[in-house]
Amino acid sequence: MLKLNENYLKLPGSYLFAEIARRTAAYSEAHPDKRLIKLGIGDVTLPLPAASVEALKRAADEMGDKATFMGYGPYEGYGFLREAIVKNDYLPRGVEISPDELFISDGAKSDCGNIGDIFSEDCTVAVCDPVYPVYIDANAMAGRAGDYADGRWTNIVYMPCTAENGFFPELPGRVPDLIYLCFPNNPTGTAASKEQLRPWVDYANEHGSVILYDAAYRAYISDPELPRSIYEIPGAETCAIEFGSFSKTAGFTGTRCGWTVIPRALVRGGESLYDMWMRRQSTKYNGTAYVIQRAAEAIYSPEGRAQVAELIGYYMENARVIREGLASAGLEVYGGTDSPYIWFRAPEGQGSWEFFDRLLGEANVVTTPGAGFGPSGEGFIRLTAFGDAENTREAVGRIKAIL
Ligand code: PLP
Repeated sequence: MLKLNENYLKLPGSYLFAEIARRTAAYSEAHPDKRLIKLGIGDVTLPLPAASVEALKRAADEMGDKATFMGYGPYEGYGFLREAIVKNDYLPRGVEISPDELFISDGAKSDCGNIGDIFSEDCTVAVCDPVYPVYIDANAMAGRAGDYADGRWTNIVYMPCTAENGFFPELPGRVPDLIYLCFPNNPTGTAASKEQLRPWVDYANEHGSVILYDAAYRAYISDPELPRSIYEIPGAETCAIEFGSFSKTAGFTGTRCGWTVIPRALVRGGESLYDMWMRRQSTKYNGTAYVIQRAAEAIYSPEGRAQVAELIGYYMENARVIREGLASAGLEVYGGTDSPYIWFRAPEGQGSWEFFDRLLGEANVVTTPGAGFGPSGEGFIRLTAFGDAENTREAVGRIKAIL
C-alpha cells in the first residue's frame, strides 16, 4: 500500500502567517469600516528598479527572436550573473569567491530548504530561536527534526537568542552537524559582527559541522565594519555555505532570483559539497529563467546601483520611523539599524499573541507575533520596514496612541 512521507504529518497545522491572516480576516469581517495597516509579512512594496524592468524587456525581445533565443541555461546559472555578483558583492569586501563556486537559484528559500538533500537524514540541525521557520520545517519534512511537542521539535538544537545575549546565540553544548545562521536576522533585526562570527567558523571547522549562512538581508547593513558575508571570516570557505537573494535587495520577491555559494574547499566525508549540490541541481532544477537573470544582473549597472540604494534608503527611513517612534513611546526596541526588521518587547509582560490582538483591535495595525518564530520569541512583536512610508508613519502614530 502507498505510504506517505509521514514527516509532513508531524508538522504543526497552522503556519504562522496563515494564523495571522485568519485573525486579520476575522477582524476585518467584523469591522468593515476599519482601515488596517499591514506591517506583518516581510514582503516588499516598492516596484522593481527601472534598470531591471528595462533588462527584462530587452531579454524578452531576445527570447522572441530566433537569432538570440535562449533555451535551457546552465544549471548553475549564467556566467554573466555569477560574475556580476562576485565582482560587486564579494570582491569589494575582500572575499575571493570564484564565480564557479556560485549557483543561481529562484530565491534563498528554496535553497535553504533543499540544501538538506545532500546531507544525511541523521544529521543534527541547530537553529537560532526565534528563527525563520523554513529552516526547521524543511528539515522536519526530511525527517531530521524528530517529533513536535509543546512548541518544540525533539531533535532540533535550539539556540536561544534573547535580549540577555544580544540576540546572538551561544555555541551549542551538543555539536550539531548543520548550523543555520542568519544575519542580519529575521526576525530579531540583529546584525552580526566579525568578532561574533569568528568563533562559529572556528567551531564548525574544528567539529566538522557545516554552517548554512543566510545573508538574504545583507544589503541592509549600513555599518561598514559589519560583515555582509560569512566568507569575510577567515576559514569560512572550509565550513560554510551561503545563501543570497535579490528579493529584499531589489524587490524580487515576486520575480524570484537568488544564489548559493559553495566553496570548492568545502569538503565533508572526502566529498566536495559543490559537486554534490551540482549533481542535485542538475537532476532536480533546470535553472532560473534567462530573462530573470538579466533583470538581476541589471541591479549592478550604474543606474541599477543608484536605484537599489534609493530603494533601500526608503525602507531604512521606515525602519528609523518605527524604531524611534516606538522607543519614544517607552517600548524596548531592537533592530532596524542594519536590518529592515524591528523587534520589540510587548509592554507590561503581555504575550506576543495577546499584544498582536491588541494592536489589531485597537490600533488596526497587523504585526507578527514573536512567539510564531519560536519559544524565545514569546513576548516580542516583529514589525517590517517594507511598507509604504505614509502608512508606516500612520501605523507608528496609532501604536503610540494606544500605549
Ligand atoms: N531567508 C530569510 C531569512 C527570509 O526572511 C526570507 C524571506 O522572507 C528568505 C530567506 C526568502 O528569500 P527569497 O525570496 O529569496 O526566497
